[in-house]
Amino acid sequence: MTRVQLDHVSKQYGATTAVDDFNADIADGEFITLLGPSGCGKTTLLRMAGGLIRPTRGAIAVGGHPLWRDGVRDDEAVRELGIVFQDANLFPWLTIEQNIALPLELRGVDKAVRLTRARELARLVSIEGFERRWPRELSGGMRQRAAIARALSSDPQILLMDEPFGALDAMTRDAMNLELQRIWMETRKTTL
Ligand code: ADP
Ligand code: MG
Repeated sequence: MTRVQLDHVSKQYGATTAVDDFNADIADGEFITLLGPSGCGKTTLLRMAGGLIRPTRGAIAVGGHPLWRDGVRDDEAVRELGIVFQDANLFPWLTIEQNIALPLELRGVDKAVRLTRARELARLVSIEGFERRWPRELSGGMRQRAAIARALSSDPQILLMDEPFGALDAMTRDAMNLELQRIWMETRKTTL
């Protein structure tokens, strides 16, 4: 089954063509990596796939739903997506488990249920024991683990990540790339 379909997608910023006629059918459970030099359009493509910006031309479907319809983003399609950015963007005034559980809180999930889920996810990303700590008490790599856990908390079908380890040192980045493969093996989320 096709999870994400990009059909003749282009993005124009004034005179700059950031993405030109990109096509891809990403199947359920696939792990896809976009490679290319700085400025080739990776971030733009990912932001379009995430519904954060609209393509100038072409169409994107997520889980079979068009992402945009008459200029309005389809919430059902967006619910399939979990996004991780280069910086963890954790809220400093929330503990790690509160950060992980935040998407569930925003959906009105019961406190006990969401904290149970946050602890499961902390285990999945190997930061168990740090659930009650503040983001500033964790290393950059651990904060990115927490950001991945947060992106997974609402159980999206698709994980979108834009150089999620780009701000980490080279050794931690290598370790996290392996960790990401392990997490993917355990969850089988479609990953871009
Ligand atoms: P990458 O992530 O591969 O480095 P980007 O998607 O960030 O590439 O950028 C692709 C091109 O689009 C670059 O030429 C960049 O300068 C341009 N671009 C990206 N975002 C904007 C924007 N918001 N406004 C204008 N130009 C942009
Ligand atoms: Mg980029």
